[in-house]
Amino acid sequence: MSTQQSTPRPTLPAWTPLAALAAVALIGGASALLAHTWVQAVAVWPVGLLTGAALASRPATRPVVLLAGGALGAGTAHLLDVDGVTALAYGLGAALQAGLAATVLLRGVRTRTQPSLRSKTDLRRWLVAGTLGPAVGVPVFLGIVLADGGEVRPVAAVLILLSSVLSHLLLTPLFLRIEPAPQRVDVTERALQWAAVGAGTIVIFVFQDDVAWAFGLAPLLVWGALRLPLREMVVQLAVTCALVLTLAVTEMGPFAIGGDTGMADITAATQLQLCLVGGVLLVVPYTLIAQQLRELSSEAHRERELVRRIMDSAHRTAIIGTDRRGRITLFNRGAETLLGYRADEVLGHSPELLLPRAELQTLAEAAGTAPEFHRIARALTSESAEPRDWRLRRKSGEVRTHSVTLTQMRDEDGAVVGYVCTSEDVTARVQRQDALLAALLTEREAVERLEQADRMKDALVSTVSHELRTPLTSILGYTTMLVDGDLGDLSPTVQQTMERILGNGERLRSLVEDLLVLSRVNAGALDLEAQPLDLRDVVRTAHEVVAPSLAQRRLDLRIELPDESALVDGDVSMLERVVLNLFTNALKFTPDGGQVVVTVTLETDEVVLEVSDTGLGIPVEEQDQLFTQFFRSSVAKREAIQGTGLGLSIARAIVDQHGGVIGATSEPGIGSTFLVVLPRLAASGSPRHRRGETTPIA
Ligand code: ADP
Repeated sequence: MSTQQSTPRPTLPAWTPLAALAAVALIGGASALLAHTWVQAVAVWPVGLLTGAALASRPATRPVVLLAGGALGAGTAHLLDVDGVTALAYGLGAALQAGLAATVLLRGVRTRTQPSLRSKTDLRRWLVAGTLGPAVGVPVFLGIVLADGGEVRPVAAVLILLSSVLSHLLLTPLFLRIEPAPQRVDVTERALQWAAVGAGTIVIFVFQDDVAWAFGLAPLLVWGALRLPLREMVVQLAVTCALVLTLAVTEMGPFAIGGDTGMADITAATQLQLCLVGGVLLVVPYTLIAQQLRELSSEAHRERELVRRIMDSAHRTAIIGTDRRGRITLFNRGAETLLGYRADEVLGHSPELLLPRAELQTLAEAAGTAPEFHRIARALTSESAEPRDWRLRRKSGEVRTHSVTLTQMRDEDGAVVGYVCTSEDVTARVQRQDALLAALLTEREAVERLEQADRMKDALVSTVSHELRTPLTSILGYTTMLVDGDLGDLSPTVQQTMERILGNGERLRSLVEDLLVLSRVNAGALDLEAQPLDLRDVVRTAHEVVAPSLAQRRLDLRIELPDESALVDGDVSMLERVVLNLFTNALKFTPDGGQVVVTVTLETDEVVLEVSDTGLGIPVEEQDQLFTQFFRSSVAKREAIQGTGLGLSIARAIVDQHGGVIGATSEPGIGSTFLVVLPRLAASGSPRHRRGETTPIA
């Protein structure tokens, strides 16, 4: 049955109720005028049309329509010369059953919407309306007649009831909304079926006497039910029944209703009504179901076509369907392209055909089953539908990697009926990944080797520096003694030479010292021996060290120290190294005639050392490398000013370890300023303030 929602439709044309009433008047009136007996008239009285008129009218006018219908019923009865009460009762009964049937049909239907005949529910409603209306209306009519002292034979009551039921079942569908069915039958077949039913009706109901002949019409009607749309069959039934009834009341055929109201006529009329009710009950539901099957089948066909097109358009995706036992039932074009097989070569086979033995074994182990596709599929799909990489073998034997998503297909009861395996060839991606992984591995090994080499270099530098220090100290000691004349007077030339040796020796020692500190910095082993110290003392010591070299220089050196002690928690020798480095740099890079100013200032929580000069400065573009190891500015190189490029990087490491910051500003040709900011200790020796983030100076 179709599950489509019924959509509101405009009601039948506004003139429908009037037309239906007119038809009631016409058929009812004609039947009464032409009939010789009430049996003939009742047999064709179209109470179903009155129900149709009620269905088609607005709720407000519906009572008026029913009343008019009732009046027509009473009028018809009156024409048959029955007494007034019986005529009125007939009209009342007709109006009652039509009203009731219309109410049933309109139940649950939105206002201004035509009730339909398309689903099981509609069918049930049509059946209930067609029987319930007469089942109430007819007894009311008969009850009034009996109450009025009239006589009602049971067989007559059955006839009236049956004719009402037939009228409802036959005529109300003309007022119901019926979906147009997909047209499958050509005009010739339709014409043939109509002609066969028409001819059959005439042959059976004009020329035959035996009731059994009536069944001859059944196959023809079933033909129509199977092939024609419901709407057309409803019309055909109405026309056929009208014809059969007309023939019977004109005393023809096996159900001829003669000119008396005797038992024979009533029985014939009752049998005819029964026969027609049976026919309608057979044909209408049968046609409806056949129509629905046709609709479902064309829907299924459309869906199959859609799925086929979607699958074929997926060129780069292999879609393989199997049945429950793992036999391939579907192999799309993408699968043909990616795996090299034609669909007809694999249909009916197991996908094991596509799996190399080792891969099948691996999958079976992963799934914990025997190496059979349907068992593996069942186990894997019960966990998750996550894509996995499988190795699939093409027809050519080439093995490719596919990203496979395996899912179960289930029937409406939830039983597994098969599996769908969707996959994409990801060999290129996997190869790229592998290559990338190999490259990463190689790179990691290279980095490790480099790090090892670096560590070895540091160790070498450290060892060599250590080994150099002792003999160098000894050489410098003896040289100093010689220069100082402790071992006797030297000629001026030798004295000069010895002084040069001493100078270069000192430089060598400073380089060795730098290298030793550097290796400790690089090894992260710059262990400080911190203690409270006065930075002013550190500056004074550094000044004493450089003072001798200033004798031959024309430099204006100013040292400005605060009166209060500049206490910091630090390692004396390390901070001396920093200050000395800044001092010597300022002196080295400031030509004669220039000025060097060293100041120590006290902030609330900080001690600030500033060393500024009016020297060569550092090119702007090189300033960001100032504190990196072995950096020497282009100016220093051009002017051949000696140095190793280690001092500032060591200074930064030392200042960092002290929780301070070091920075510089410089203008090429104008001069440079170096700043060191260290946390200040209170006189008590405790930090004046817990330091937070420090702002870099340069
Ligand atoms: P070195 O002085 O032994 O070369 P440093 O690490 O102390 O090593 O200094 C690195 C470089 O920074 C120097 O070579 C020089 O180019 C530059 N530099 C340092 N201080 C100054 C300064 N006061 N004026 C100009 N350039 C400087």
